[in-house]
Amino acid sequence: MTKLTADDIFDGQRFLGPDRVLILEDDGTVSAIVPRSWAGEDVRKIDGWLCPGFINTHCHLELSHMKGVVPEGTGLPAFLTTVMERRQPATPDILEEAILDAAEEMRQEGIVAVGDICNTTATLSAKQQSPIYWHSFIECMGFIDKVAHQRLEQSLTVYGRFAADGLPCSLVPHAPYSVSSTLFQLLGSIENNTPLTIHNQECADEDALFQNGNGAFLEFYRHFGMDISGFSPSGKSSLQTYLPYFPHADKLLLVHNTYTTMADIHFAQEGAASIYWCLCPNANAYIEKRLPDIPTFLRAEGRITLGTDSLASNHRLSLWSEISTIRKYYPEIPLAALLQWATYNGAEALGISGVYGSFEKGKRPGIVQIQDDHAKACTI
Ligand SMILES: [Zn+2]
Repeated sequence: MTKLTADDIFDGQRFLGPDRVLILEDDGTVSAIVPRSWAGEDVRKIDGWLCPGFINTHCHLELSHMKGVVPEGTGLPAFLTTVMERRQPATPDILEEAILDAAEEMRQEGIVAVGDICNTTATLSAKQQSPIYWHSFIECMGFIDKVAHQRLEQSLTVYGRFAADGLPCSLVPHAPYSVSSTLFQLLGSIENNTPLTIHNQECADEDALFQNGNGAFLEFYRHFGMDISGFSPSGKSSLQTYLPYFPHADKLLLVHNTYTTMADIHFAQEGAASIYWCLCPNANAYIEKRLPDIPTFLRAEGRITLGTDSLASNHRLSLWSEISTIRKYYPEIPLAALLQWATYNGAEALGISGVYGSFEKGKRPGIVQIQDDHAKACTI
């Protein structure tokens, strides 16, 4: 039994105050939270605050070798072009080492679970050895309709490798501008494929493509020699164009949402799926120099989660750093709300709230110590 007290304890949804003691079994399972006067002897005092382990709902661990490679502020199409042209590592060892270092950085920063985008099997062995819970989102892309079946087969091969090793995974679309209508239909028809995630409305050009058939993605397709003559704009926002392909989705984690409007939020939340809005503010600042309109999501009572995105578009893989950025631009948002996005909501989005996200009896959520504007994993 370990008994911990702190300057304050955040339980996943609220601060409980300084007069509480978190009691844990030896393996980290939560036994109880009790008033100090009930806790008896041997209570260890931790400086700062205690919080359940952080849940990073959007990362690309396999891009960890690209730290500092892509210039900041280029906008999304130019960012994607650089990533696609320069993602091949000089040697496999460089990538493997970068992946292990990035996973260790996240562990030290108090991250206990990650929703991680995969185009390849590069992260497989690191995930097998890691103390972190990984849900691997095996990504599928192909904007040309006729390659839809072939692209799905390729992604299924990657999916099969993760599934064969017993690693939690699902098959997901990359983004509205990189998935054809046929590929969306194929992905939307897969049963028990949950949770789903997609990069959503990360730049204004994405909506321009679907609303009017123009914007910077046309040059992006030209650059890669893609014939998109089969594409016709829907006249709607990107979100309102692709979401109907997933009428049976259970959980949908929409990532970035930098240009999402109130109308889009209502459209999504009126559907049958549980919608989670994953914000990656540091990556948005890196790529687009803009943050999502977070107060609009709050007014619409959107369920928000947080992600770091990858080291290609971020300087660190730290949820506390993401929280700090939001506090800088939106100081009116209570810290308890931000911490709930990083813990309770993230666990719900990844379907792991039976173990992670809150200090409830029987869960084993990990512990973060927050002190002097830093967060780190707290070992008992
Ligand atoms: Zn991403």
